[in-house]
Amino acid sequence: MLEEWVFPDVTCYLVAILGLLVVWQYYQMQIMAGRILAIDIFDRSGIRMYIYVTPSDDHICEVCAASNGCFFLPSQVAKKKFSPLTGECQRPIPCIGVLIGLYGAWLEARGVLEYLRKNAPNGGIQLSSEEVRALVNGQWERCISADTDRLGIHMIEAFSYEQINPEVSIEAYRYVVNEVKEVRHLMFLVPAYLRLTQLLLRAGEEAEALETIERFENRFPPTKRGPHFPSYEQRESLKTKKTQLLNDLPLQMSA
Ligand SMILES: [Zn+2]
Repeated sequence: MLEEWVFPDVTCYLVAILGLLVVWQYYQMQIMAGRILAIDIFDRSGIRMYIYVTPSDDHICEVCAASNGCFFLPSQVAKKKFSPLTGECQRPIPCIGVLIGLYGAWLEARGVLEYLRKNAPNGGIQLSSEEVRALVNGQWERCISADTDRLGIHMIEAFSYEQINPEVSIEAYRYVVNEVKEVRHLMFLVPAYLRLTQLLLRAGEEAEALETIERFENRFPPTKRGPHFPSYEQRESLKTKKTQLLNDLPLQMSA
């Protein structure tokens, strides 16, 4: 009886070919319907737009805060005197802010990109903090560009949730400090270490804050220099926090 159900080999191949044809047809229909851009399938690398983000923190000056959520095309960023800010940062120790490159293949990001391409360089686009959060809550993980955008998205998420959900923010910063390996993401490291330490202290997580500062010191030894290394002031601010923590922690442990 069982033998009647065994297909000849040729049938298996035919079924496989038919399956592939269905898949290709499906992709073709998705492309025609505009759900997948043909370019998304063939161009998996590269940055198509940049967003400038600052931590949602009240220590950010007016000038830097005013550019939070601004988008730029690579052609704009490549210009010689490009700055995401419209003026000079108002703080003696410059505010934290990062220009994050995205491929942005998911629905919300594609909307931004299309608008940007139509309007830049005359207008550009700026999203409110709420809209930036909605952007990173989109279905980016299901897109072909998920790997390209993952670290950038976690960085945007970390900055945007500091006030309204510090736990989400802490988790995203932890991801960034653990996962940054490529050169293009190095610029995320110092801001992530600084903000993570700050949020951990605020949450009363002294032990992890201390561990984070020690990791930062190992990652950026004071004797070395390199691109995207911390400034003297940034090092000093964490050094001061470390001294305070070392004074406080033994007391807590004996209490
Ligand atoms: Zn500033």
